[in-house]
Amino acid sequence: MAVLSDKFGRPITDLRISITDRCNYKCVYCRTGNEGALYGDLPFADYLRMARIFAGLGIRKVRLTGGEPLLRQGIAGFVRDLASLRDLGGEPLDLAMTTNGHLLAEMAQPLKDAGLNRVTVSMDAVDPDRFARITRVSGGYDHVLAGIRAARRAGLWPVKVNCVLMRGFNEDQIIPFGMFAREEGVVVRFIEFMPLEEDRVWLPQTVVALDEIVGRMAEYRPLVEISHARSETARRYHFDDGIGEIGIIAPVSHPFCRHCSRIRITSDGKIRTCLFSVWDHDLHQLMRRGASDEELVGFIHGVVEKKEERHHIGEADFVPASRTMVHIGG
Ligand code: SAM
Repeated sequence: MAVLSDKFGRPITDLRISITDRCNYKCVYCRTGNEGALYGDLPFADYLRMARIFAGLGIRKVRLTGGEPLLRQGIAGFVRDLASLRDLGGEPLDLAMTTNGHLLAEMAQPLKDAGLNRVTVSMDAVDPDRFARITRVSGGYDHVLAGIRAARRAGLWPVKVNCVLMRGFNEDQIIPFGMFAREEGVVVRFIEFMPLEEDRVWLPQTVVALDEIVGRMAEYRPLVEISHARSETARRYHFDDGIGEIGIIAPVSHPFCRHCSRIRITSDGKIRTCLFSVWDHDLHQLMRRGASDEELVGFIHGVVEKKEERHHIGEADFVPASRTMVHIGG
């Protein structure tokens, strides 16, 4: 069976599955604060079939996301089923999850026991009041911190903490996050704000770019770049004394589309070939009509052929994606 690769020669090895587009947070860089779920979700058995077919095509990593994936009841059972799948080399899949961490304290150990390998927790301030202003939910900070600590204890390792920087909201959190990475033993990753928010407030000036992050952190301690895999989204750094890891995901100032290995399934079963796609491809509709595995494989190959070469953020011809981040799955 042919391994998935697109017409630019990029192997597709990384699948992200959104299992709901509901979310219990309303982060300013993501949501309006008024809209709810738009697309609904599918039974776990349908995502499992999709994951099995993708694993047979060369996918090695599966990341569960949303919306907020921990809002789905029965998620540990789904992880257990995913953990029974094998990649083309007969190895278990690398299973990860991105979560806002609000419900993670109770779920970390059951997820680890079910076979989850790693977790990434989104956290955009290390100060409870600022955190509430960004998430537009009060009292969340302590839950998320407890979730991060529980994930570490459970061995969901390495725990990564994602912080989207948005000028005017949290760029003063760069140094506190540097301290947090060292004290808590987590990898903090700063993400450049992308035009994928429901409010459509993105402007180039609102992006806090990689060079500024590195420069600001040097006022605390210098960062030294370390090597990273080509398909990895984050540039990786240690502090000069070797303690604490920082990542910077810089899709706006340093795009990494040439090495993109990702494909996404939305909560309603559509394939998206790029975060910035202006269309999606209805895999679930085919399944509902009774398509065989072979027919689904043929459909997937055809879709991957259409994967976009790159995004056009900040260019005159930029066309906003047909869905915002919460309804795609980041
Ligand atoms: N609810 C989960 C969470 O909070 O991690 C998973 C879904 S969330 C959409 C996935 C990731 O996308 C989070 O790390 C979030 O910070 C990031 N994100 C959302 N909107 C973004 C934007 N406009 N630019 C950059 N990253 C964004």
